[in-house]
Amino acid sequence: MNTERLCMVCLEDKGDSTLCSLCGWEEGKVPESPLQLPPRTILNNQYLLGRVLGQGGFGITYLAWDMKLDREICIGSTAMELRKVRR
Ligand SMILES: [Zn+2]
Repeated sequence: MNTERLCMVCLEDKGDSTLCSLCGWEEGKVPESPLQLPPRTILNNQYLLGRVLGQGGFGITYLAWDMKLDREICIGSTAMELRKVRR
């Protein structure tokens, strides 16, 4: 899977276009909240972050793409984990 073609919202192949024809997501769109990591942030050299599924006191849950296993996953991040990622 070429992750550059992957839409970060629906995780479908959007082709070479920067705009996903399936859900309307556009490459480079910034998160609604400054606490959220932008799409295409890579964690542990394995998880490509997509859209935010939920945000609450427990942290933020992201839809993500597991680049090693080539499959869709969900990642929950607490505020503490996010600080680690940004360091
Ligand atoms: Zn899409």
